[in-house]
Amino acid sequence: MADKMLKFVKIGQQNPPKRKVDLRKEDFNEIYDEFISNKAKEQSSRCSQCGVPFCQVHCPLSNNIPDWLKLTAEGRLEEAYQLSQSTNNMPEVCGRICPQDRLCEGNCVIEQSGHGTVTIGSVEKFITENAWANGWVKPINVKTELQQTVGIIGAGPAGLACGEQLRKSGYQVTIYDRYDRAGGLLIYGIPNFKLEKFVVERRTELLKKSGINFFQNFEVGKDATLNQLREKHDAILIATGVYKPREINIPGSDLNNIFPAMEFLTASNKKGLGDKVEKFDDGTLNAEGKNIVVIGGGDTAMDCVRTAVRQNAKSVKCLYRRDKENMPGSSREVANAEEEGVEFVWLSSPKEFYGSNKVEKISVNKIKLGEPDDTGRRKPEIQNDGGFNLEVDMVIKSLGFDPEDLPKLFDNNDLQVSKWGTIKTNFETLETNVPGVFAAGDIVRGASLVVWAIKDGRDAAESIIKHLKQKEISKIKVA
Ligand SMILES: Cc1cc2nc3c(=O)[nH]c(=O)nc-3n(C[C@H](O)[C@H](O)[C@H](O)COP(=O)(O)OP(=O)(O)OC[C@H]3O[C@@H](n4cnc5c(N)ncnc54)[C@H](O)[C@@H]3O)c2cc1C
Ligand code: SF4
Repeated sequence: MADKMLKFVKIGQQNPPKRKVDLRKEDFNEIYDEFISNKAKEQSSRCSQCGVPFCQVHCPLSNNIPDWLKLTAEGRLEEAYQLSQSTNNMPEVCGRICPQDRLCEGNCVIEQSGHGTVTIGSVEKFITENAWANGWVKPINVKTELQQTVGIIGAGPAGLACGEQLRKSGYQVTIYDRYDRAGGLLIYGIPNFKLEKFVVERRTELLKKSGINFFQNFEVGKDATLNQLREKHDAILIATGVYKPREINIPGSDLNNIFPAMEFLTASNKKGLGDKVEKFDDGTLNAEGKNIVVIGGGDTAMDCVRTAVRQNAKSVKCLYRRDKENMPGSSREVANAEEEGVEFVWLSSPKEFYGSNKVEKISVNKIKLGEPDDTGRRKPEIQNDGGFNLEVDMVIKSLGFDPEDLPKLFDNNDLQVSKWGTIKTNFETLETNVPGVFAAGDIVRGASLVVWAIKDGRDAAESIIKHLKQKEISKIKVA
């Protein structure tokens, strides 16, 4: 093994090359080039094959990372793919957009010893893209069709992963989604420069070819109630994500040209997919030639600032109330935004929006960080002096998301939710208090990550299968 692996001392860390800033600002394509095969093999060979692989421990899907790195280093790429896909329904998506610095790569032993982490995400993407190119990624070939049916509400990563796992076991699966395209935030939230849309559409097509039925433009709560779907299916999964934007309640918030992040990003993604988007085409949601201020410091805010750059904004500023060290956004995405010319205004929060009809100016409070609060993070406190004004043509609010009122929307007041409005489930089974109704992804966790949504979808599928088997047994006993 030492021959092929443990090369971290001799071979330095390398990621696939990033496209030059001037070029990547001109389009919405992904910013990283592909690994060539030899580079992927070489980088995989840096893995130290730890006895207790902390990368695997810190991957929510417990991916067998050291094993597929070794197979890649040995050039056994089909086996590497088979192993990688056995724990992950979308390895090419996770390889691209997991915040690896906080998960697998951040816990790589080589990283801890100062040699620079194995570039796990890039290799995961390489293995799966190579598998697609070679025709190794195939639709599910169901051996025995089962009669029981499952209705899944939401075609985001949680719903898609659950649907795929159920279909592999032969169940009839129908996925309902209120959008016109499947993919959830993968299609309309996350911009192309992080995740090109063909990657998502290719997955959806594969699931369609596997026999999963998709009902798009179908909003549960409007087109059917939860109970109507329960009558139709043997089990239900709720995987609706969280979409209610958090608001800023300061004077002037009702002025025009102040938009929630998802409205801005969805318009941009739809344009990229070739749709007609009236509010973009008439200039309302287009940042071109405008002074843009994005409020917030998470990954969604980073996606907004970088989208505005690509729309040729005159200037792009990000206003955040803490400092760079205390930002929730991934450090990789902050660095990308800085390279692309975004100006970060740290330790500042908006006080008031001014303008006669649409927003023209923001007055900003300076902030200092006080003592840590209950969460352990230092509390932002307004400073009495040092405030300033910013000229602005468009404001994008990116302060996070809350769940919609699902019991009301679904016309089912029995459905229990937490004090935050997320759905309450049994931690072990992911079943809600309504029998036969399960829930997964952001609607249970609150706004989280794609990899966690996939993990929840897989876990929910396991529980649903147990539930359906139990149901069959009960039927036989009654008969
Ligand atoms: C802008 C942005 C960028 C992000 N970037 C990253 C990133 O880089 N890396 C990362 O890991 N995570 C990222 N995330 C988080 C990640 O996208 C989510 O955690 C993940 O998509 C959650 O998956 P989900 O399946 O639970 O929900 P979603 O992806 O939100 O899917 C829910 C689906 O349910 C549908 N739906 C909702 N209500 C109904 C209804 N009543 N009837 C029918 N259908 C309904 C919606 O249309 C949607 O398609 C980002 C999030 C945002 C907003
Ligand atoms: S799924 Fe995410 S955390 Fe797990 S190995 Fe892949 S990139 Fe790392």
